[in-house]
Amino acid sequence: MTDRPETHVRARAVVLAGGAIPSPLFLLSQDLCNASGQVGRNLSLHPATAVSALFDEPIRGYETALQGYGVDQFHRDGILLLGASPPLSLGAAMLPFNGRRLTEIMDRFDQVCTFGVMIEDESRGRVRRGPGGRPLLTYWIGEHERDRLQRGMARLAEIYFAAGARRVMPMMAGAPILENAGEVTAWEARKRRAAEFFLTSFHPLGTCRMGSDPRKSVVGLDHQTHAVRDLYIVDGSTVPGPPAVNPQETIMAMAHRASELLAARLT
Ligand SMILES: Cc1cc2nc3c(=O)[nH]c(=O)nc-3n(C[C@H](O)[C@H](O)[C@H](O)COP(=O)(O)OP(=O)(O)OC[C@H]3O[C@@H](n4cnc5c(N)ncnc54)[C@H](O)[C@@H]3O)c2cc1C
Repeated sequence: MTDRPETHVRARAVVLAGGAIPSPLFLLSQDLCNASGQVGRNLSLHPATAVSALFDEPIRGYETALQGYGVDQFHRDGILLLGASPPLSLGAAMLPFNGRRLTEIMDRFDQVCTFGVMIEDESRGRVRRGPGGRPLLTYWIGEHERDRLQRGMARLAEIYFAAGARRVMPMMAGAPILENAGEVTAWEARKRRAAEFFLTSFHPLGTCRMGSDPRKSVVGLDHQTHAVRDLYIVDGSTVPGPPAVNPQETIMAMAHRASELLAARLT
């Protein structure tokens, strides 16, 4: 057995910026900053799903910027509708059909419009080290999330029918098809189980959240960890709760502020 070389790096400050899943995993693997038990907790996800609609005319949503269109009318209610037309290569995966029903709709893919429904979540999950140190994420879709998702999907269906859609296809188990606006109310009234939604998430946040109370947070207001001096976390893991909009600008603004604080400290 050979001796493994040791390298020591002296730094005036260290910035951890791996993102909301790798950053807490790194701290957990090094047994750092977790006296409060908060590392990896408070995971918010902005759960999202989609609803497609078939129109008479060509839509060709895949030729434009995906998020060129959106509806923020229901934002106060924690619901954001965003254009999300997939390219043809991904289109089949965005439709809850198979067999003949799928090929029929794919034949008319030019006429299919798809929007995403993203919600502000109240549920909080957790990132842990799973077998072999791999990320293990747990998250519970609660009644609040299910209600919001279904309400967002129903409003989107109404918008589609008002715009002349022939058929509306929510991404759900059982592949429901709504033929007219009159069917939306009944569809919305039937409460769904979490497993019936086809869900995605692109915005994990909060797993090393910022706060002034070391018992409830991992980093202070200056991004420095409460437990290890000169260790800073600057990524989405510090965002304390879901902003209910796509979070990149919030993360960049926080990173900009952190860089100014750090520069002022080090220069
Ligand atoms: C498909 C998709 C679409 C999205 N669209 C939007 C959008 O339209 N608008 C929006 O606002 N947000 C969007 N987001 C979310 C946005 O990308 C993230 O919220 C944001 O990038 C998170 O920033 P971050 O700095 O926390 O982490 P990241 O941007 O993930 O940065 C972390 C970096 O750390 C690196 N890293 C991780 N682990 C290690 C390691 N062990 N060693 C070395 N390097 C490591 C990663 O490679 C990465 O470069 C989208 C996300 C996805 C997945």
